[in-house]
Amino acid sequence: MAKAIMKLVVKKIALERIYRLFELAERNFKKHPERSKRYIELARKIAMRYNVRIPFELKQKFCKKCNAFLKAGVNAKIRVSKHIIKVTCLECNYTRKIGKKVKSRKKGARKNLARSRR
Ligand SMILES: [Zn+2]
Repeated sequence: MAKAIMKLVVKKIALERIYRLFELAERNFKKHPERSKRYIELARKIAMRYNVRIPFELKQKFCKKCNAFLKAGVNAKIRVSKHIIKVTCLECNYTRKIGKKVKSRKKGARKNLARSRR
């Protein structure tokens, strides 16, 4: 029982640290871009170590490939086509699609529901 509570506390602290690191990355983005890159790297490492998911609103703010902090219009390009948001990192040209997977997952869930009713 105590162990389960400890796990929750540890995860909560990890999440707090992730939020704090993203805040620092945003603040240092203009003057020290390499520092903000390191902050994102650390936040991702913390998430991996404590098995915490990086919140959705933060997930859009960094490049998965080169760990760069992304700011629309500065080092990121955002395009929308067919309900899919494409975020391109202008530092490594990696494009991340948002909204595509969510749609297909919903369809799958509906199919599974229909199957279970039969
Ligand atoms: Zn990148």
